Amino acid sequence: MDQYHGSFLWAEMPMSKAAILYCKSVKDHSCIAGAKCYKGMAEKNGEFAQHEEIELVAMTDCGDCPGLTFPRVKLLSEITTNLGREIETLHFGTCMKLAMETAECPIDFDSLKAALESKFGINVILGTHSY
Ligand code: SF4
Repeated sequence: MDQYHGSFLWAEMPMSKAAILYCKSVKDHSCIAGAKCYKGMAEKNGEFAQHEEIELVAMTDCGDCPGLTFPRVKLLSEITTNLGREIETLHFGTCMKLAMETAECPIDFDSLKAALESKFGINVILGTHSY
């Protein structure tokens, strides 16, 4: 029985407190209700495979403008910290990844990731599910 497959040890694995940002232009239009992200979390599909266990703490949109993403994460960080559920990992949804790669979303992921990780001490991951 190794560290990861002993049943009693599964119960002791720390949850990764995660939040998801989704593309405001896509959510509930071409992707409904975050259903793919919820399925991805349940199946540890795509970028969710990086976690042993995931606890979704919050889910909100990017702000509909690249300039609003940073202040929205600031508010997100403040409210979750105040509630005692501090975010460890922030996923940019697959919708945001596709928006950047194929729909001319102007977010510069690398610089935003560096700024968010430096300011809020979180791990920022590009993508969620792979459906
Ligand atoms: S295209 Fe980019 S900035 Fe615009 S809503 Fe989608 S993720 Fe946000």
